[in-house]
Amino acid sequence: MIEQNLSMVKDNIAAACNKAGRRPDDITLIAVSKTKPVEQILEAYEHGQRDFGENRVQELLDKYDKLPGDIRWHLIGHLQTNKVKYIVDKVVLIHSVDSVKLAGQINAEAAKHNKIMDVLLEINVAAEESKFGFSMAETENAIVEISRMPHICVKGFMTVAPFVENSEEVRIYFKELHQFYVDMKCKSIDNISMSVLSMGMTGDYSVAIEEGSTMIRVGTGIFGTR
Ligand SMILES: *Cc1c(COP(=O)(O)O)cnc(C)c1O
Repeated sequence: MIEQNLSMVKDNIAAACNKAGRRPDDITLIAVSKTKPVEQILEAYEHGQRDFGENRVQELLDKYDKLPGDIRWHLIGHLQTNKVKYIVDKVVLIHSVDSVKLAGQINAEAAKHNKIMDVLLEINVAAEESKFGFSMAETENAIVEISRMPHICVKGFMTVAPFVENSEEVRIYFKELHQFYVDMKCKSIDNISMSVLSMGMTGDYSVAIEEGSTMIRVGTGIFGTR
């Protein structure tokens, strides 16, 4: 099942790229494995999947120890400052930086490991009360502040679009964030290399790709319902 799901997602990625005149190689598929057992993660791994996303630190740590060392782990969920120390040496990208304070903590912990941690700023595109993330209005100031932190590198933005029945309804948010991403890229702020736009989940990744996403986070579409 996981094998078929993976190949179906890849076909959909190819179709969306074709429609938008983009290359499938430019899209990274992250398999979101939260709540799923290591056996299922291994099954996806055996079919070539290497990027996996988890939204909880403890769950990521438990799985990290049991799975192959060449997996690229992504933290995609809200991160508390007191948990940063457990993951800075284990993940390739933190998608969910939602405050300058959290960035400061990541910078401090990354310094202890003598590394530069790649991060994305989470943007609350539709300004939903229930969601974490910067508003677009406050993002530029946040980037400038974070750009002064030597052990952190902002690679781009992540968003979770509003939950809707018809994915066409969120196209406008993806379009808006992509435009903002391009604008920020053009500013060439020191220490900032805008190259990642993490947007699109099971229900809306085709639309997200058409609108310029470079990373999609797919859980249900690969592992089934949670
Ligand atoms: C759970 C989760 C996903 C994957 O959601 P699906 O709808 O199952 O594809 C993507 N991004 C974040 C931040 C998540 O928490």
